[in-house]
Amino acid sequence: MPEGDAVYRAATRLRGALDGRALTRSDFRVPKHATADLTGRAVLTTLSRGKHLLTRVEGDLTIHTHLRMDGSWQVMPAGRRTAPGDQVRLILANEQWQAVGVRLGMVDLVRTGEEERVVGHLGPDLLGPDWDPDEAVRRLRAAPGRTIGEALLDQRNLAGIGTIYRAETLFLRGVWPWKQVGEIDDLNGLVSLAKRLLEANKGHAGTVTTGDRRPANQTWVYGRAGRPCRRCGTRISRGEMGAQPQERLILWCANCQPR
Ligand SMILES: [Zn+2]
Repeated sequence: MPEGDAVYRAATRLRGALDGRALTRSDFRVPKHATADLTGRAVLTTLSRGKHLLTRVEGDLTIHTHLRMDGSWQVMPAGRRTAPGDQVRLILANEQWQAVGVRLGMVDLVRTGEEERVVGHLGPDLLGPDWDPDEAVRRLRAAPGRTIGEALLDQRNLAGIGTIYRAETLFLRGVWPWKQVGEIDDLNGLVSLAKRLLEANKGHAGTVTTGDRRPANQTWVYGRAGRPCRRCGTRISRGEMGAQPQERLILWCANCQPR
């Protein structure tokens, strides 16, 4: 699932292709907006907010998209055919480029002046200009009985962390994922580390938390179930956290992250 750094990169790609250019085509392949036509309007910019993307268009319109589980934005020269079988949800094109939204989990149109209605619930964005670790900690502390693993994925607390950064951050801080928020002394250190990890990866594809970009060496615990911990040799554990049907993968070292 794309996390905050991947969404940040998608926004960068969309800005490069669309900003300041008039749309020559808009193709919404979602029932709710199937008749929408933004042709002739200039795209102002695209912003990322946590895992949400906001593409602002002339005339007080914002295209709100979310990659959800496996969506992506592909930028290619205008007119090129998309790969057969791609589940295209939205195409935005100008004379030079087209941006193709594949398997997007959400495509919506809102008034730019009303963006807060769709992203106003989000906590501070780890990669945003509004990042505020104190506010993130304040929101986390508001539910001290919650497990830290679940609280970190709740985008209302802080926006941008998915299962990879959750697992890697908790490992690096030596925190058992089921520990209660109220039992953790240095929440500020925890969220600041998560921010540093996302920052370190926002400029390139893939997630490297070890500092070693070789494919087999990029993470401490994520993707390494059953393999020896890089620090202590204990086999990495794999489980699920959260209430069904929204349980999500967690990996941890039972020795480095004790109860
Ligand atoms: Zn270990």
